[in-house]
Amino acid sequence: MTNNIQAIRGMHDVLPEQTPLWQYAEHKLREVLSVYGYSEIRLPVLEKTELFKRSIGEVTDIVEKEMYTFDDRNGDSLTLRPEGTAGCLRACLEHGLLHNQVHRLWYYGPMYRHERPQKGRYRQFIQLGVETYGMSGPDIDAELILIMDRLWKKLGIRDKVRLQINSLGTIAERQVYRVVLVNYFKAHLDELDEDSLRRLETNPLRILDTKNPAMQQLVENAPELMAHLGEESLAHFNGLTAILDSLGVSYEITTRLVRGLDYYSKTVFEWVTDELGSQGTICAGGRYDSLIEQLGGKPNFAVGFAMGMERLLALVELAGNVPLERSIDVYMIRVGELAEKEGLRLAEKIRNEVPGLKLQVNCGGGSFKSQFKKADKIGAEYAIILGDDEVSRKELAIKSLRSEQGQKTFNQEQAIAFLQEFLVKM
Ligand code: ATP
Ligand code: MG
Repeated sequence: MTNNIQAIRGMHDVLPEQTPLWQYAEHKLREVLSVYGYSEIRLPVLEKTELFKRSIGEVTDIVEKEMYTFDDRNGDSLTLRPEGTAGCLRACLEHGLLHNQVHRLWYYGPMYRHERPQKGRYRQFIQLGVETYGMSGPDIDAELILIMDRLWKKLGIRDKVRLQINSLGTIAERQVYRVVLVNYFKAHLDELDEDSLRRLETNPLRILDTKNPAMQQLVENAPELMAHLGEESLAHFNGLTAILDSLGVSYEITTRLVRGLDYYSKTVFEWVTDELGSQGTICAGGRYDSLIEQLGGKPNFAVGFAMGMERLLALVELAGNVPLERSIDVYMIRVGELAEKEGLRLAEKIRNEVPGLKLQVNCGGGSFKSQFKKADKIGAEYAIILGDDEVSRKELAIKSLRSEQGQKTFNQEQAIAFLQEFLVKM
């Protein structure tokens, strides 16, 4: 006996009944990005492992324990991208896109992290990533926030998400703060969990990001980075809040928000929800100017974010306002040799003359009765009925499957006019 092969744990199929929800959200996000003038960039899912080690940082969760890394046949170490920021910047540097230029880019696709699968946390998940280069001020930080604010509204979930912002200052400011923070945690060593004890040496700011409920109080009372920011970082942060205030976008200043990756500076932000349990961050990003030099570029400016599609869709579903679009408008029933032949030709003619009509032709034969059953099951509004008699009279019948209108016989021109009118009325 052979066992069926199953998908990899944490990697999910999107079945046909779920794709309309995906397509709906994808359509909305493309629309929003295009009205802000953003361009799509498409990137490989595989990159050299070195890229992620150098950008994300050696002592982050991602690089330490979440990457899918393997040796290529020729011995190069490759990694399935755990995020898109590094690859996007790699591509822009490689193609010289950052010389005295400004860019507003987005990408969409799967990311891979070897995490413990649970609701809202998968090993393959889809992200929308948005990255901008060459702009130093808080205005572009604000623009990224506005884009998402608009998307939430379009998807009817604005009341389900909250914006949290913080500033991480500069690397130098963080170094000073790091000492203060380590001293604080050292005074409370017995309250730190195993992960945090390890991070105390490697990446103490990350302790602030802990999801361990037992440590929340400790973390809440920790000294704040905001108090250690210099003039320029503060001005940038105040600039951002001033823009958000003037545009009526509400936010919470969350001084514990540090983000998991090493490359951020100044602005960081997250859009969070209370409706998805512990996987409550939908979208996260910030400024990462220093990453450009870290990857070998000249000093420049960068800010971006990534949004997890699975979490977004879970929220959209909760809100319950996904428009149900019919996948088939008309199902063509063909019975008889002549009808089978003429049906395909007629269907092409209808598709030419009624653009946008979703017309499916019965294939594989069957009686009138069994074909009607299929038409009904698929949710079609109308059935076109074609028997040999109709064909020899150059006629066809159209029957409503959703009302008591009954069946009407038309010549081809009348039928096309009828279907055109149906599409307009929809
Ligand atoms: P978390 O704290 O939940 O692990 P993260 O800080 O690791 O998130 P980012 O690297 O900032 O996440 O990724 C941006 C977004 O991508 C997240 O806010 C989330 O919506 C989504 N995301 C990240 N990891 C996963 C995953 N394993 N499964 C599904 N979505 C994810
Ligand atoms: Mg994570």
